[in-house]
Amino acid sequence: MKKKITIAVDGHSSCGKSTMAKDLARAIGYIYVDSGAMYRCCTLFAMQNGIIAADGSINEEEFKRRMPEIQVSFKLNEDTGRPDTYLNGVCVEKDIRTMEVSAHVSPVAALPFVRAAMTAQQQAMGREGGIVMDGRDIGTAVFPDAEMKVFVTASDEIRAQRRYDELVAKGQQADFDEVLSNLRERDRIDSTREVAPLRQADDAIVLDNSHMTIPEQNQWLLKQFHKKTE
Ligand code: C5P
Repeated sequence: MKKKITIAVDGHSSCGKSTMAKDLARAIGYIYVDSGAMYRCCTLFAMQNGIIAADGSINEEEFKRRMPEIQVSFKLNEDTGRPDTYLNGVCVEKDIRTMEVSAHVSPVAALPFVRAAMTAQQQAMGREGGIVMDGRDIGTAVFPDAEMKVFVTASDEIRAQRRYDELVAKGQQADFDEVLSNLRERDRIDSTREVAPLRQADDAIVLDNSHMTIPEQNQWLLKQFHKKTE
């Protein structure tokens, strides 16, 4: 049997990474992990436990102390055919995708003790290979030796439109300008933080999918996978 490899898909906010990573994992029979969902769970936990105040300030000492309480897991949803995210055994798939969580997640993800805890969990999930993980630092910090690394991007406006459409489709209230400024702000914080900033790994293949359909980008990704594993 062919050796199963590790695939890292990194890139800017809302560029369609998750969709393509999920579809690839399904097509090739690999495990899929959404590392952004894990940072969103940390953020939700902090919001639910008074660690993040209404003005956005974070009680870092309390957060660090309670960090060991945060357990994130994924379970396949039979109806959608996609994995749902669980925080300490509770399905939070919907709760972690709100604009409120999006507004606080990048400062949370910049905290070194949060990154250390999530990185350790991610590395444990990928120990056996056969995994597609998407995020910001997968090819640079989590799996620097991944056999296949993809860096995805698209124009700001196109990314905001996709995210806006996604929120509306889920029945959530959304404002296009707010979505656009949130993703620009997240990109700024994610790219400039001290620990594991968002950057393209030197050995990553770059994809600008601004003008690609989902089937087109899936085809492109599958071709890259076959090239790597042939
Ligand atoms: O991928 P998603 O947009 O859901 O990620 C939410 C946030 O989590 C990002 O804006 C980023 O701040 C953080 N993140 C991260 N490292 C990862 C994945 C996500 O810092 N590997």
